[in-house]
Amino acid sequence: MLHPIAFNTPGNNDLQSLWERARALLQNQLGDATYRSWIAPLNLHSGTAHQITLTAPTRFVREWVASHYSDDLRRAWQTQLPQVQLIEVIVGSTVASASAAKKPVAPVAMATPVPSAREYTSPAAATAVVQELSESMGAPLDPRYTFDNFVVGKPNELAHAAARRVAESDTTIAGCNPLFMYGGVGLGKTHLMHAIAWHIRKHNPNRKVLYLSAEKFMYQFIRALRFKEALEFKELFRSVDVLMIDDVQFISGKESTQEEFFHTFNALIDQNKQLIISGDRSPSDLDGFEERVRSRLGWGLVADIHSTTYELRLGILQAKLEQMRPSVQVPTKVLEFLAHKISSNVRVLEGALNRILAHAALVGTTISVENTQHVLHDLLIAHDRRVTIEEIQKQVAMHYNIKLADMHSARRSRVVARPRQVAMYLAKQMTTKSLPEIGRKFGGKDHTTVMHAVKRIEELMQVDSELADDIALLTRTLQG
Ligand code: ADP
Ligand code: MG
Repeated sequence: MLHPIAFNTPGNNDLQSLWERARALLQNQLGDATYRSWIAPLNLHSGTAHQITLTAPTRFVREWVASHYSDDLRRAWQTQLPQVQLIEVIVGSTVASASAAKKPVAPVAMATPVPSAREYTSPAAATAVVQELSESMGAPLDPRYTFDNFVVGKPNELAHAAARRVAESDTTIAGCNPLFMYGGVGLGKTHLMHAIAWHIRKHNPNRKVLYLSAEKFMYQFIRALRFKEALEFKELFRSVDVLMIDDVQFISGKESTQEEFFHTFNALIDQNKQLIISGDRSPSDLDGFEERVRSRLGWGLVADIHSTTYELRLGILQAKLEQMRPSVQVPTKVLEFLAHKISSNVRVLEGALNRILAHAALVGTTISVENTQHVLHDLLIAHDRRVTIEEIQKQVAMHYNIKLADMHSARRSRVVARPRQVAMYLAKQMTTKSLPEIGRKFGGKDHTTVMHAVKRIEELMQVDSELADDIALLTRTLQG
């Protein structure tokens, strides 16, 4: 028979110290960023000889950990307790009492929203006002931007899961408040925000949702000041249940708008209202923002959207075609050609597809790779003006603070070898050069060395979000 190891017994102290060691291993293995987001929030709940139970602060964290890190967790525990077979993660707080050790823990109750000191008007009126405000602010929701129309792939998996989670919940989710989504232009931030708003409007019409760009926020704020409506402005914003501010980088350097944003932000968080913010870079990289604002933006869940992969681009093209059901056939070869050639952002990709469809409809031809090349001539030239390997090497060396010469050297020290691999990876992604050609530019290395580097970086990016961030940033900088 298995005996639960209860808390506050000597046995459990041992268990706790084993957990500490397993955690340290995971930190090493997964990198700091992943560790901080997903492993650090877990607590030891209880254990038997074969099973360990951990608690996660929210259902979202639980689900994400269970689907992404359960093998890592099990292996880390097995280094400490070889007989452990199963790691269970439940939602709940750690209950540090012996008697409660094996009882399932009740899900953490959400703090009930504290009503604001001064309600704007009756709740129904406020909903109407917010609705009107959203509309009058000229930020209508695009009907195409729904979850159904969003293609999920590795690069946007986390942001999508978080957006869905927030949209489907009736209440604010503590671990996701604020939800900060960031990524380069045209990667789906606005699409996801609209999708959240549509979902809530449909399934939870009593929740007041306000979506607007940071630019509109500033404009409204300035207008309110001019017309001495600052108080109304404040109260309106504070009466919403879900506030979404798109492209927050817009208010970089705009001090008084930031000040107002910061107060609105704090007031809403204090009242347990849901905030969703998007930006073109992570909170810590936002220039022109006060430190306190940056740090607050990173309080909840920060989800990055990476550059698209070939597979995701192909998936998006296929999904778009399915939606549009054009009368002409678009051969798979053409879709592959587009997904291969147009890697910058999804908006451009969609534009390209629309253009070849429009052209085919107009001149009544079939669609082939040849006429696609012809129709998209200007676009393809712009894309072919790709970065050179030299530019990549220079940028990467600068980013990691190593000498440019180290890109060509044979030094194997990690400090230079990893950046070199990053540069090789980027050269493969961003140029049309072959593996042997790339190898030659890196001091005459073999093509297998380049292949290995590309694979290694791809693997690491899955587990090391800091590296993934570095690469996203470098890609953007290089694309200009
Ligand atoms: P961002 O706000 O990040 O600049 P958008 O949300 O405006 O990007 O997306 C640009 C275009 O690409 C939109 O038309 C959007 O529908 C489309 N798009 C981006 N990502 C996806 C995706 N994963 N699935 C389907 N469409 C996408
Ligand atoms: Mg946008």
